[in-house]
Order: sequence, then structure tokens, then C-alpha cells
Amino acid sequence: MQHGVAFAGRIEQTAWWESVLGWLLPLAFFVALYSFAMRRMAKGGGGPLSFGKSRVKIYDRTQNERITFEDVAGVDEAEDELREVVDFLMHPDKYQALGARIPKGVLLVGPPGTGKTLLAKAVAGEAGVPFFSISASEFVEMFVGVGAARMRDLFEQAKQRSPCIVFIDELDAIGKSRGGLGAMGTHDEREQTLNQLLVEMDGFDPGKGVVIMAATNRPEVLDQALVRAGRFDRQVLVDRPDLRGRREILRVHARGVDLAPVVDLEVIARRTPGMVGADLANIVNEAALAAARRGGGTVETQDFEEAIDRVQLGLKRRGRVMNEEEKRRVAFHEAGHALVALSVQHADPVHRVSIIPRSIGALGITLQLPTDERYLMTREELCDRICVMLGGRVAEELVCGGLSTGAQNDLERVTELARQMVCRFGMSEALGPQTFGQSLSARFLQTSVPLGEERNYSEQTAQRIDAELQAMLGAEQARARQILTERRAVLEAIGARLLAEETLDQDDLAAVVAGAVA
Ligand code: ADP
Ligand code: MG
Ligand code: ZN
Repeated sequence: MQHGVAFAGRIEQTAWWESVLGWLLPLAFFVALYSFAMRRMAKGGGGPLSFGKSRVKIYDRTQNERITFEDVAGVDEAEDELREVVDFLMHPDKYQALGARIPKGVLLVGPPGTGKTLLAKAVAGEAGVPFFSISASEFVEMFVGVGAARMRDLFEQAKQRSPCIVFIDELDAIGKSRGGLGAMGTHDEREQTLNQLLVEMDGFDPGKGVVIMAATNRPEVLDQALVRAGRFDRQVLVDRPDLRGRREILRVHARGVDLAPVVDLEVIARRTPGMVGADLANIVNEAALAAARRGGGTVETQDFEEAIDRVQLGLKRRGRVMNEEEKRRVAFHEAGHALVALSVQHADPVHRVSIIPRSIGALGITLQLPTDERYLMTREELCDRICVMLGGRVAEELVCGGLSTGAQNDLERVTELARQMVCRFGMSEALGPQTFGQSLSARFLQTSVPLGEERNYSEQTAQRIDAELQAMLGAEQARARQILTERRAVLEAIGARLLAEETLDQDDLAAVVAGAVA
């Protein structure tokens, strides 16, 4: 027993030393690593005017080469919206005197390569103000606590140099929604950086002439807190360019190269549907390289052919370009939506039809704008809406034969809508005025997390609901088919015109329909 006690004491002592060393050594190691890394970062900071403390890239575009709206093309709507920001940066006092609400945060949203970063730089260049830029993905790689501190520094410096622009690229890297189920209780670096950004945005006075801009190609993952009033409340869509836009972008990039007079940029624009500004810049560059390889004095059409093939091959590998057959399918799919919308009684007017993948994800798009703000919708209106959504798939089937995967999103939406009509709005004759199922959701940190539906009806009723959904969707599909079969000539005319022009607005569409009918 004595033995045992003495023995135990010895173990305790070694254990104490061991444990102290056990955490002291790694700690010392990390402190050393940290200070080493910080020193490295301080030395290697980017940008001609970067400060030792924050290593934010600052480009004073008044001194360096200036990027202006002249260098950006094909995104006219975004440009128009940003002109206001330029005006504010140039005359902040004018806005202050009027007491006008000044934009604080502007979020540029659009697919990669459409020119978001370029536009932000152009705003700074037009206004002749300094441009503080940092990519949010850089924050994520930092050591704990550094991201938030750096965000604070960024704004500190910006305030001293106002008027100026603070640009946060790839905002989604830190701005991802917090408080999802998986993220409960985690308080990681990203979140601290995001919180610091929110604090900074709330804390400063927009009258001081600092405009915060940010860019993202994944707006859907952003934390709602970021897009609330007083933060990034102004969102500017930077979309894929259409035919005309592509021609203009090519023109901008062709300024620097020696084009042969025969080269027609219009033709090249027609050959590059779906491509974004970055792809087109790439094509012009590849064409110049091809000309140089050939030893030619100017860039010829054949060089562009080679360049397009090259760039397209790369994009195809990443699955981003449509071939001719796919393009035809998309054209008739969208023509189907448009024609059904024009034919049924209650559909919203068609504002624009396009086969260029505009918003992120969808292939073509048929944009209908409601004529006025709606609070209530009747059963007939909802049925018409379903009919329009099914029109795309039906048209594909009629004209191209067979079915494709392109209508998936339409199908999801009609199924959801039909289910709501039956289960929520009691719009089914067969099932009567009753709701079925109770939606469950939980609240975590101001966001409501849907947890699915609780079924409060019998298996038999479930079968009747399914049967009713099938009947409803079947009837609407038949109606869409009837409309499109009767007006087949018009459908073909719209599809053909879409293939040629890619985008039709309301007036173009009316003209095509009138032409086909006459
Ligand atoms: P994003 O930030 O949207 O991913 P970038 O602004 O980085 O796209 O664009 C990359 C390059 O592609 C630009 O530097 C420019 O040369 C070219 N580019 C992209 N969009 C356009 C455009 N709309 N007009 C002219 N050039 C463009
Ligand atoms: Mg960018
Ligand atoms: Zn569709």
C-alpha cells in the first residue's frame, strides 16, 4: 500500500511537467510561426501604396493607368446605375446639401467574367478617386483574429482618403449565410470577419464620401444581414452580354490590336453566344497570338476562327457552351413559353425572351413582368401560369422531338405551385375547401429554417392529392399542347427569330407574331 502511494506520487509529478511542456512547446511553435508569417506578409504586401499594417491593395487610379467606362461594354444597365455612384463620389457635398439618401453599399451580382471587378475599377477611374481593393477569399486564409483586424484597418485607411471606393471582391467567401443547422455555435474566423464588416458598414457616415462596393457570383448564399437596408442595399446585375453587347466588348478589346479591314466583329459576336467579357477578351488575345505565330502583319478572320475554336474547346470542357442542337432546343423551349404566355388570358406580358443563359443556372429565359403589384391570385391565373411554364417543354417535344433535361426547373416550379393550389389554397374541386399538411420551421438566429411538412392526413388522402396533382398538370399540359399545335407557324417563327437574334423584347416579339399570322 505504501508502495502504491509513493508510486502514484511520482506519476503525478511527471504528468504535471509533461502536460506543461506538452502545451507550452506547441504554443511557442505557433507563436514563432505566427510572427514569422506576419513579418513575411508585412514585407510582401501588394500595391504601390500599401501600408505596413494592413496590406490592402490600394490603387490610386488618378496616378496609374485609368480604367473608365470606355473600357467596359455590353453591360449598359449596370453602367447606368453606377454613373450615379460616380456622380456622388465627385460631388458628395451636392448630395449632402440636398439631404439625399446616398448609396452606402453597392453589390455587383453576376456570373464570373462578366466584368464586375472591371466595373468597380471603372467607377473609381471615372470619379478619379482611390480604389481600395481586397478579395474576401484572402481573409479566409488568415490567422484567427487577423481578418477582423484587417477589415478595421481597411476602413480606417479608407476614411482618411475619402472620397474613395472600398471594393470587396468575392464577397461570398466571407459573406456566406451564418447560423445554418450545421454552423450552430461555431464562431470561426469567417464569421468574425463578416461581423466586423457589418460593424464597419453600420458605423460610418455615408456623407463622408466612402462608397463600399462588393462583387459576388453567388448572391443566393449571402447572409441576409448583408443585404439589409443601410448595407449592400443596392444591387446591380451584371449580366451576360447579348449579341450587341458582345460586339461592343470585342470592339473594346480590338482597340489594341491591328485588325485587318475585312474582319467583321459582328460575325465573331454571332459565333460566340453565351460567352462573357473575359472569354471575348481571351479570344481577341488568342487571335493576335495566332496572327503572330503565322507571321502575319494584321489579325485576319482566320486567326479569329482559330481563337474561337481554342477558347470554345476550353469552355466546352467545363460544360459552358451550347452546341447548335442545344441552342435550337433552347430557342424553341423559350418560344413555347412566350407563345403560351401570349395566348392565354391571364398571363403577365412577356417582357423579354432570350436564349442566352442570363441569370445564373437557367438556360434561356422568358421574362414576364407583372403589370401591377399583386396580392391575390385567382385559380384561373394560377392555371395559366402553370400552362405557360409547361409550354417550354411541350414546344421542345413538338418541334425538336423527345424530351430534354432543360425543363427541370420548370417542372419543379409547376409541381410546387400545383401542390400549393391543392394543399394550401383549397382550389381543387375534388378535395374541397381544406388545407392539407402543416409546414414546420424552426427559428435560428433570425433566419427561419424549413424543416419540411408534417402530414396531418391519411394515406388515402395522400393518394387523392397525388391523383389531383396529376390531373391538374395533365390538363394544363394538354392545353399548352393544343395552343402550340394550333399556332405552330407562329411558334416556328419565334423560334427561328430567337436563333438568329438571341434576344427579343416585347416589340420584336409582337412584330414576329404579326408577321407569322399575316
Ligand atoms: P468578374 O469580376 O465579373 O469575374 P472581371 O472584371 O475580372 O470579371 O473580368 C475579367 C476581364 O475580362 C476584364 O479584365 C476584361 O478584360 C474582360 N471583361 C470582362 N467583362 C468585360 C466587359 N463587360 N467589357 C469589357 N471587358 C470585359
Ligand atoms: Mg472578379
Ligand atoms: Zn423553361
